[in-house]
Amino acid sequence: MSERFFTPGPGPVQLDREMIAGRVADIGREIARDYGDDPLHLICVLNGAFVFMADLVRAIDRPVTMDFLSVSSYGSRTESSGEVRLVKDLDQSLKGKHVLLVEDIVDTGLTMQYLLGYLEGRGPTSVRVVALLSKPTRRLVEVPVHYLGFEIEDAYVYGYGLDIAHRYRNMPFVTSLLSGETEP
Ligand code: IMP
Repeated sequence: MSERFFTPGPGPVQLDREMIAGRVADIGREIARDYGDDPLHLICVLNGAFVFMADLVRAIDRPVTMDFLSVSSYGSRTESSGEVRLVKDLDQSLKGKHVLLVEDIVDTGLTMQYLLGYLEGRGPTSVRVVALLSKPTRRLVEVPVHYLGFEIEDAYVYGYGLDIAHRYRNMPFVTSLLSGETEP
């Protein structure tokens, strides 16, 4: 490990703290404007979206409610298994609520497809998606992303909530690995 843990990786995708803060502020303003006085219920997809969620809710200058769910994802590998499993369920009902699903990254789209089906079955008034990152060239299924932070190329990214084998989530920026690498 390098002397300083908060060191950008060698890959092509690099989003520094200022770039992320600027986009999060813009998206927060857009969401506040779009929903007006309608009650808004945000759902954070754990674990990867927890940092984005924490910043985003503080950029939405109006009352919101929130809940958290968790799905199994990559585990300790860097390739998707394509299997999605609900690990932690929601605590609150979605009946009659305007739901905004908060994701860290949309890659193949399989997780999002599963989650949208799951949420829509629980009687919300509407469901939209906000994602910090999207890798469109990796998509296997089409899914809607209503609010997006950054479209990125196909590189494995980490930091700002995203992990490599459960590590690096606390890095305050997004950085990436070189293609074919599994460690920085
Ligand atoms: P999808 O189902 O392939 O769209 O993948 C969605 C989930 O995989 C995300 O919520 C992340 O948890 C994880 N994931 C996808 N790409 C990356 C990456 O580049 N870095 C870290 N996690 C990723």
